[in-house]
Amino acid sequence: MPTLKIQTRWREMGRRALDTVMPPRCMMCGDVVADPGALCASCFEDVTFITEPFCTLCGIPFVDIYVEAAETAVCGACARQAPIFDRARAVFVYDDKSRNLLTRLKHADRTDFTPALARWMVRAGASLLEDADLIIPVPLHRWRLFFRTYNQSALLARWVSRLSHVPSVYNALRRSKMTPSQGGLSATARRRNVARAFVVTDEEVVSDKKIILIDDVLTTGATLDSCARVLREAGASRVDALVVGRVPAPSG
Ligand SMILES: [Zn+2]
Ligand SMILES: [Zn+2]
Repeated sequence: MPTLKIQTRWREMGRRALDTVMPPRCMMCGDVVADPGALCASCFEDVTFITEPFCTLCGIPFVDIYVEAAETAVCGACARQAPIFDRARAVFVYDDKSRNLLTRLKHADRTDFTPALARWMVRAGASLLEDADLIIPVPLHRWRLFFRTYNQSALLARWVSRLSHVPSVYNALRRSKMTPSQGGLSATARRRNVARAFVVTDEEVVSDKKIILIDDVLTTGATLDSCARVLREAGASRVDALVVGRVPAPSG
């Protein structure tokens, strides 16, 4: 179809012109890179992408363990107390180097990072997404949403849904309590902080569904557990979690 070809051609020319004026930049250091939504070679080296072996439940990466031995392995924390969600998977280890990527997405209006991060999430969460029914973002309280204007988890959920073709519902969960920020709290305090902070808005939407919760960071899992609990009570048949960053060793 010639019209389509011309359109594609124009779009390509437009992109090239834009690249000359505003070349794509590395999401972490701002150096010029070949493609939008990429990291330069040196920043790519700095990010610890999570690959097997990892805990089959919470997805925390194992270090110094034979892959064969880790196949059905769960980490110490999950062995002591299994999470309420079924499985969690993350793209990279959330540390001093990778932190700036997510902080900029959350607080510096760098919503243009979303498609690239979502693409990584789809890869990291492939086994969860293959038979999932529904994607649900962890909601922000409406006041926090009012001040921040966007919910980074909802943006990620929209792109994960678009790329994986798993439908998403943005208002299936509501934050009923304005909880203080989780930063600097111990694992127990985090759990207490978010206990009963969420409600399911429509049980019919989630009942008998295999759900994937989307959030930016998994620290102790308290928020995701709190969401998973109400979704299970509302009849969800499975609740997995897919995040971008994973704090390597949850405190407590
Ligand atoms: Zn860079
Ligand atoms: Zn674990």
